[in-house]
Amino acid sequence: MSSRKFGYGGRILRIDLTERRYRIEELEESWIRPVIGGRAANTKRLFEELDPDCDALGPENILVFGIGPLTGSMLPASAYYTVSAKSPLTGILGDSAAGGQFGPEMKLTGFDQIVITGRADALLYLMVTEHGVGFVDCPDLAGRTIVDSTAEIRRSQRDHAIQVAAIGLAGENQVLFASIVSSGNRVNGRTGMGAVMGSKNLKAIAVRGSRPVEFADTLEFWDCVQRVEKKILAHGEYSKRRRMGTTMLMNDLNSIGILPTRHFQEGVCDYVDEISGEKLAATHKVKNKGCFNCNLPCSRYYVVESLEAEGPEFETLCGFTSRIGNRDLPFALEMNRYLNQVGMDSISASEVIGWLMECEDEGLIAPEDVDGFTIGWGDTDKIRAAVEMIASREGIGDRMADGTKNMAQAFGERAQKLAMQVKGLDIICGDPRGIKAYGLTYAVASRGGDHLRAEPYFELTNRHGEAKRRFGTEKAADRLAEEGKAELVLWSEKIALLTDCLTMCKNVGLCMDVLDFEGAAELLRTGTGLKFTPRYLEQKLGEAVDRLAPRRPVLLFQRRLPDAARAARKDGQGFVLHAAPGVRSLRLDLRARRRRFGGRGLARCLVVHKRTLLRPQGVRKPRHMVGLHRPLSELQPVVLLLRDRHREGPAAGHHRRGWRIVERGDRPGAERRWCFSDHGTALDQTEVLPDSKPSEKISSRDTGCRIARSM
Ligand code: SF4
Repeated sequence: MSSRKFGYGGRILRIDLTERRYRIEELEESWIRPVIGGRAANTKRLFEELDPDCDALGPENILVFGIGPLTGSMLPASAYYTVSAKSPLTGILGDSAAGGQFGPEMKLTGFDQIVITGRADALLYLMVTEHGVGFVDCPDLAGRTIVDSTAEIRRSQRDHAIQVAAIGLAGENQVLFASIVSSGNRVNGRTGMGAVMGSKNLKAIAVRGSRPVEFADTLEFWDCVQRVEKKILAHGEYSKRRRMGTTMLMNDLNSIGILPTRHFQEGVCDYVDEISGEKLAATHKVKNKGCFNCNLPCSRYYVVESLEAEGPEFETLCGFTSRIGNRDLPFALEMNRYLNQVGMDSISASEVIGWLMECEDEGLIAPEDVDGFTIGWGDTDKIRAAVEMIASREGIGDRMADGTKNMAQAFGERAQKLAMQVKGLDIICGDPRGIKAYGLTYAVASRGGDHLRAEPYFELTNRHGEAKRRFGTEKAADRLAEEGKAELVLWSEKIALLTDCLTMCKNVGLCMDVLDFEGAAELLRTGTGLKFTPRYLEQKLGEAVDRLAPRRPVLLFQRRLPDAARAARKDGQGFVLHAAPGVRSLRLDLRARRRRFGGRGLARCLVVHKRTLLRPQGVRKPRHMVGLHRPLSELQPVVLLLRDRHREGPAAGHHRRGWRIVERGDRPGAERRWCFSDHGTALDQTEVLPDSKPSEKISSRDTGCRIARSM
């Protein structure tokens, strides 16, 4: 990088834990420029240096801490840092971002990336400053909570301004969904980055720096920042978000019937008033907290009898209340604190517990299968015991610590179908049957059942005019509509990637619609001196990341929601799509799908082709991320729930080719069967009475699509 490096620190820190050595390298402008920073730069680093077939918990896995050019700048909500590695939970690319104070402090060390390889011979932590790295043995921190460890590191270093990203008991025991926690409550929760740290005998990374950060044109950059700040302050949800943070979603999602309740069996929780964000704010919250330089301090500090802590976010609150049938709010707050002290992802933890509850409820798992550990809905003593056993890998907790998908493999097909996960990553607390763009996002997210790759919050905003302008149809702002959702998700993925590169918070950048391509180009020009056109940020940035792994298997499928859930839903949202055996080459290409099918309502079948990615001239053939992306043939049949219908009657059989959807027919007891080609073209629609043979059609309507084929 040139000697005048604005925004960037311009250096990479490489640490070999096995040899206890480090090396400082210059960050080349030509290397970083196409991907800007943050998640995209981490992905590029892994792609270039990681053996995709490596053991995710072995010394050869690479753990990357990355920030971006604007991290910790005057730009509000830009405090995020991303941790990336091969995920032990999913076996594919893993990464997770968190806000707080760690990223801005790392910026002051002058390192844009910290790249960690090897495995230490004893538990240690790293003390990173702008001058280099100290390797500090810390056997006394083994098993200690993250809060204790952070305090001890600060005390021993005699510096209370040090920022620490640490693991707890779960990470040390390599729970596959262990998290990394910094600033007390800022969690790199997803895809098991804490387990990777634990596998390297790395208890914590402490950072402390004082290198100044320069901006290309500070006054102009300040003007851009002011515009962003004003947008945040003027937003209609500002007060609500400031008061409740993401916990406001408890009531919001419940009111539209998509709050996961009793493991997705219902979408409405009848005791939501006892566990809502409003209740939390009124009874336990004592003050607001926020990330570095954010003018929307949305986090909350709470006190409950003998315990106090920060949080929880919506996912933890919902995960440890309605999702597992619990109505005890103080208990959920206790769990929030415990999870952040032992370092465990609350989404995956609540999913594996909820899945076990439902399987036992349904008689799919007998007590003797799980060491006699039975657990009922909302049984707080058993939930507490389960979480503690997972963190320490004791008893049945040892199997639960491998994640829902892995654990379910031992319990037959029906139990596996109840696991709410995509590609091994448990889905969030948002029922995809009532939020179609989110459903698609879960299905196509490159790290698994995740909303943050796109966060298509727009579909919940009812901004129909804006939807028409941006996505060509007002329906994009209708959460139950299918039309326009591919375009919405595609657009949201681009903005989400941009926020990850600028290390901004998605609550602000995406949900509040604060970031746009023009504004981001100005921020980057004035902050870094690098000129990016809005078109580059919209079109090329994503391609620069995608280009790293051309033709990767898409694997973009959402797991089927359980039969019990479909039956229990009173609002009738649910629609089942079975993958036919023999389908081998399905790929997703939202862009191609849009071109090919336009707005003809075929969003109901989202199985299309991944866009062909072009290799830039002069670049050697990129390596295929084999191992970071599983071949399609390993996937189980999957289901997309995309239409609002009751689904009753016997399960659909597989069609010889293509896809089949079954919904309740117009006549009592009848089924309506839709047949689609591999490419999503609707072929035929037939209504069948119970017990009739497939050939005994009651009615068959021309669907208006290209081909009609008899079932
Ligand atoms: S909105 Fe909340 S989570 Fe986002 S940066 Fe601000 S304080 Fe942090």
